[in-house]
Order: sequence, then C-alpha cells, then structure tokens
Amino acid sequence: MMKSMALEKYRSRRNFSVTPEPQGARIARRKKLIFVVQKHQASRLHYDFRLEWNGVLLSWAIPKGPSLDPSVKRLAMHVEDHPIEYASFEGVIPEGEYGGGTVMVWDKGAWEPEVEDVDEALRKGDLKFTLFGKKLTGSWVLVRTKLGWLLIKHRDDSASKDDITITEPRSAISKKLLREIARAHGGDVARAAKADP
Ligand code: MN
Repeated sequence: MMKSMALEKYRSRRNFSVTPEPQGARIARRKKLIFVVQKHQASRLHYDFRLEWNGVLLSWAIPKGPSLDPSVKRLAMHVEDHPIEYASFEGVIPEGEYGGGTVMVWDKGAWEPEVEDVDEALRKGDLKFTLFGKKLTGSWVLVRTKLGWLLIKHRDDSASKDDITITEPRSAISKKLLREIARAHGGDVARAAKADP
C-alpha cells in the first residue's frame, strides 16, 4: 500500500528501530470516523486529541486535557498528522526519542462532523462535531483564535462541572492507570505516577 506523504513530518521525527510507535504504513479508508484522546506524559503531561480525517489522524496537544464544562476553553496546539494505527498505541516511547514517555489511550470512539464541509471548517478555524466516546460524548467545537486552537464543550446533556481527567483516569482499552502502563512496558513508573490522580 502507498505511504502517505502527509505523514512525512511524523516519520522524520522518529527512529522506528528504537520506538515502538507505528510507522503508518497505510492510509486508512473506513466508514465510521474514529477519534482518540491519548494521555501522554512526555517532557510535560498533555492529552493528544486526534480526529480521523482524509486517512490520517488530525492532531492537537491539549496541556490540560478536555473539559466537560462549556465555560472552560482548553488550549489545543495543532501538531503533525498521525497515522490511523496510532489510535491503538498505548505504551512507552523510549526516553531520548521524540515524545519520550508513557502513552495511554484515555478515550476512543467515533466522531461525526456537524458541518457539511470539514476541510472548509478547518480552513476557517471553526469545526463543530459530535463525539461518541467512552468518556467524551455530545457536541464540541475546535475553534482557531489568535492564541491558537481552543477545544470547547457545547451545552448539552453531556456537559458537566466534573473534572473528567480526575474522575476517569484509567485507559479506555486496558483500564490501566498511567503508572501501570509504564510498569507493563518498561517505562519510568515514578514519573508516570505523577500524572495519575
Ligand atoms: Mn503527545
């Protein structure tokens, strides 16, 4: 299968003979669009928010993680596209490698755009969408401002004042805490434990 030129930046930053992260050998074509949120204890803790689009995962790094409170705007730094297979990556990126640290699949599910033209919405910097995750559901928006992109929950039944990063700290696929993932994959358990509530 053809390798995606869109993933060149992703690949150039990684030494795949050292890191267990996927190379992204294929460009995905599937019916339901997937999303994933990966809790990533790199040099700093952040949550990587990824939406499948055009065969890759559009990606934003959210330092504080998503909030269910519609009055809270979470800074979301746009980062390089990732391969679709990355959505299942949970484990440890070796220290010294790009993004070195422990990665958890914190949430995963399907997403649907609430706009007719996703590419146009991304160009305009105003993408409304619905999430069907295990933790994140309902209506959301990614909006581009002078400060960067912001992830904001819309007011609906799934809005809440609860801090879901605290109340739901476990992996959506393995049910492990970050320190348990670090332990299972030979990572820095003490450092990962700092990111568990
Ligand atoms: Mn990351």
